[in-house]
Amino acid sequence: MTPATEPASGGGAPGREHSGRAGAGPEAAGGPEVTGDTTPVHGKAVAPAAHAAHAAHAAPVAAADPTPGPALDRPVSAATSVATSSGPVGPLGPVVAGVDIGGTKTSAALVGPDGAVGPVVTVPTPAAEGPAAVLAAVAGAVRALGGAPVAVGVGSAGVIDPVRGRVVSATDAMPGWAGTELRSGLEQLLGLPVAVDNDVHAHALGEAWTGAARGARCVLLVAVGTGVGGSLLIDGRVHHGARQVAGHLGHLAVPAATGLPCTCGGTGHVEAVAAGPALHAAYRRAGGSPDVPDLRAVAALAAAGDDRATRVLATGARALGQAIGGLANVLDPDLVLIGGGVAHCGPPWWDPLRAAFAAELLPPLAELPLTACALGPTAAIVGAARLAGAAEPRQVLGERQAPVC
Ligand SMILES: [Zn+2]
Repeated sequence: MTPATEPASGGGAPGREHSGRAGAGPEAAGGPEVTGDTTPVHGKAVAPAAHAAHAAHAAPVAAADPTPGPALDRPVSAATSVATSSGPVGPLGPVVAGVDIGGTKTSAALVGPDGAVGPVVTVPTPAAEGPAAVLAAVAGAVRALGGAPVAVGVGSAGVIDPVRGRVVSATDAMPGWAGTELRSGLEQLLGLPVAVDNDVHAHALGEAWTGAARGARCVLLVAVGTGVGGSLLIDGRVHHGARQVAGHLGHLAVPAATGLPCTCGGTGHVEAVAAGPALHAAYRRAGGSPDVPDLRAVAALAAAGDDRATRVLATGARALGQAIGGLANVLDPDLVLIGGGVAHCGPPWWDPLRAAFAAELLPPLAELPLTACALGPTAAIVGAARLAGAAEPRQVLGERQAPVC
């Protein structure tokens, strides 16, 4: 797989614009691009533009907030109640739209109440044109889905306040994005209830719903791409912190990064030694050929046994493993999930990561799983749909018997 160098941000890293997931499919140069099969999302195939005529007759959104609690205790459909007589309500319930807004592209899909994902529509994110253009692009992508979703969930780059529905901060990659009224703006454009959160948090919610963390209550997700980001789920809920900044684990200090400048303006943070661009830069500093263009090429060299590439990957992976292990000692999660493009660097990266992680753990945590994410590029779409209430959250939470972490 390709080590994507997309930013891994948001609940992740300041200075990063998107979670570090591997590529989510080719970008459309013009109109919306549709990828994927017409996967049944509610017991029958959902094709783009299907059911559009029923948009005004969709089912109400019940229990729309999948992360009930102080930070997300508002019903997503507070102002919306629609008829139940017709519309895309299959045997399992209503269909919602999940949206993943990144710095360069925006993807959307219909998601059923069981988490099944329909065809993905991808459009460029017109970040340079400002927030209004971005919102219009998102609305266009949702409309292109058809299917009469009853609500929309959005995972976006940047620090997002899910309660106020606003972008708290963002990097220069999305000029003016900070301060954008993301939820109300989209509600006005779409006429549907909208729930919003950071994209890395959405990624974690997706994995916890139908992916590698299914059934887990306390989950630490680490996204390693252009940046190092993360998300912490406690009792199935996103932990946002007091200022919505929680999850920025790329800015933990580690010895291997001492003196190295970080994207946040500080120095010595793990992102400065473990993110994709940092690994490529380290390869160059180690005397690697300037003809090796990116991390993908470095990983290919390591896979072929090249000592320099192997050492560089190991150094970054060990630093990250050390940081994650220390966090695990603090948090004692059910499991740790690793995602992002760098996680596709293979055993030369994973082996030292696991070794450093294990070496850091307190003895009672010796069996703590360190697992690759399972959902791939649709994870944030799935998690965003979870935000929108694709399923009654308590149906899932009620199955969990593990003690609250
Ligand atoms: Zn930093």
